[in-house]
Amino acid sequence: MPSHAPATHLETHEVTNQPGPFAPRNLYTTDTALREAVRREAGDWLDSRLERLGAVVGSERVIELGEQANRFPPEFAPFDRYGRRLDEVRFHPAYHELMALAMEHHIHDLPWIEPEAKGRHIGHMAMLAVFTEAEAGTMCPINMTYASVPALRWQPDVTQPWIDRIIGGGYDAPLRPIVEKAGVTMGMAMTEKQGGSDVRANATRAFPVEGGARHYRLVGHKWFCSAPMSDGFLTLAYAGGDLSCFLVPRILPDGTRNSLQVMRIKDKLGNRSNASAEIEYHDTQAWLLGEEGRGVNVIIDMVHHTRLGTLGSTLGIMRRALAEAVNHVSGRAAFQKKLIDQPLMRGVIADLALEYEAAVALAVRVGAAFDPEDGADAALARLAVAVAKYWLTKRNPGFVYECMECLGGGGYVEESPMPRLFRESPINAIWEGSGNVIALDILRTLRRAPEAVEALSAELAAGAGGDRAYDAALRTLKEQLSGAPEEARGRQVAERMALLLQASLLIRHAPAAVADAFCATRLGDAGARLFGVLPRDADVAGILARQGV
Ligand SMILES: Cc1cc2nc3c(=O)[nH]c(=O)nc-3n(C[C@H](O)[C@H](O)[C@H](O)COP(=O)(O)OP(=O)(O)OC[C@H]3O[C@@H](n4cnc5c(N)ncnc54)[C@H](O)[C@@H]3O)c2cc1C
Repeated sequence: MPSHAPATHLETHEVTNQPGPFAPRNLYTTDTALREAVRREAGDWLDSRLERLGAVVGSERVIELGEQANRFPPEFAPFDRYGRRLDEVRFHPAYHELMALAMEHHIHDLPWIEPEAKGRHIGHMAMLAVFTEAEAGTMCPINMTYASVPALRWQPDVTQPWIDRIIGGGYDAPLRPIVEKAGVTMGMAMTEKQGGSDVRANATRAFPVEGGARHYRLVGHKWFCSAPMSDGFLTLAYAGGDLSCFLVPRILPDGTRNSLQVMRIKDKLGNRSNASAEIEYHDTQAWLLGEEGRGVNVIIDMVHHTRLGTLGSTLGIMRRALAEAVNHVSGRAAFQKKLIDQPLMRGVIADLALEYEAAVALAVRVGAAFDPEDGADAALARLAVAVAKYWLTKRNPGFVYECMECLGGGGYVEESPMPRLFRESPINAIWEGSGNVIALDILRTLRRAPEAVEALSAELAAGAGGDRAYDAALRTLKEQLSGAPEEARGRQVAERMALLLQASLLIRHAPAAVADAFCATRLGDAGARLFGVLPRDADVAGILARQGV
């Protein structure tokens, strides 16, 4: 709760030299990098939506809801008080309020309700980012619901009632038949105990139900199934000799419970407001999407779109951490100076700001490529979302840690949001394809999709001539890509492509202070480096001005 006029004159001392409260603030309009990119790539329609969202989620009330939803994590409710089976999860009221708010702002369906709008997928990604600053866990079901639509569209005769309740739907939590609901949320269950990345190791089997069109029963389990209170799940099981994709409703059309059993919920490092379950299918009823044995093609459409959400979530975590660091160092003095005026701290914050500026530029460019009007962009989207996911999500824990240290000891204490942000920071690298798997995916695309390589080359060529370090790094990457890079070089290729894409975007769109310092620090062969090591001639004041200091 916001505290009215906390006392600063205490019996033994005065409370001084502490920064002002973080909230309320508009989490979008105070973010120069994101706002500029959104205005450039999408325009006013999205700017005004984000402005409204930024004010709401930056309010003291919503920031507090985010804390509560994580302080009081979900509880497993396997049975009701009479011993009847439920397989449900109970959430704190703050979680429900946050879910309702996110759906009210259409984070789950913006590109589908605005199918013609330029930058509609940037809309999903950027709104998810801004919301994540207040609360990250709820964005898992919101992102999966958004991403389910392209996969559901493979089989509209089965899924239209679901699509109709996702697009334009509001949050309607209690489980019941979807025809009675004002909106539905969706999950995705692929990972099994014996194999996660390698989905072909799945052991779950599907058996056709006699006389039922596309109707099957599933037998098996899933080792991770987040948001288990979703109304439906897309899942993989073997049928017809290969993996097939199925829609599994929690409640069957006749109103009875489907036999999807929740075995337990995971005790996780972070992401605590969101429940992640282990589930079993006991003759669970399911409906086939697409052809038997072609399930990976269907679910990959969902995975592709969830990857965009991992970029939004990463931006949100970065932004909140950076903004908290800036707030602290602007309000606290040490050794006779405000921290932000100490040369070393200026370098650290400026370097973190560069990292954030580059992350925004890349994520927004990838979001733009998700608008499929243009064939080159469609090709770029598949490659660039993997490149961006690889780099941004893997850099996140180090970034948040450095922001945390800017707050000193207070940043390590649970009253501050920094421990929660830190615990949240590794997850986006793990789910939707872990680092190595993403690197392998990138190599596969390079080998099999020359149109994606062409689109990437065009994007990189647009930055050429703007910076000497950039031109040299681009030559090195071209040499590397001219032969098929071997598997063991996968991470190196992914990293180089990400840095060059970021630099190319900054050279074209960011102020020189940002682009020059980014190229000077990220593209050379400086080797291992920590944040805060900028060249002597870096325009630190120019970089910091964009952070409001
Ligand atoms: C909080 C949370 C929520 C989740 N929610 C869901 C969910 O809702 N639905 C769902 O289906 N899954 C979910 N997952 C599971 C997640 O997607 C998997 O954990 C992830 O895909 C990795 O699979 P795995 O755990 O089986 O690891 P493995 O596949 O065993 O991989 C272990 C490591 O080996 C690496 N690796 C794999 N193959 C190779 C290779 N060929 N070469 C080099 N390295 C390799 C991986 O990159 C990884 O680092 C969730 C996970 C977490 C932590």
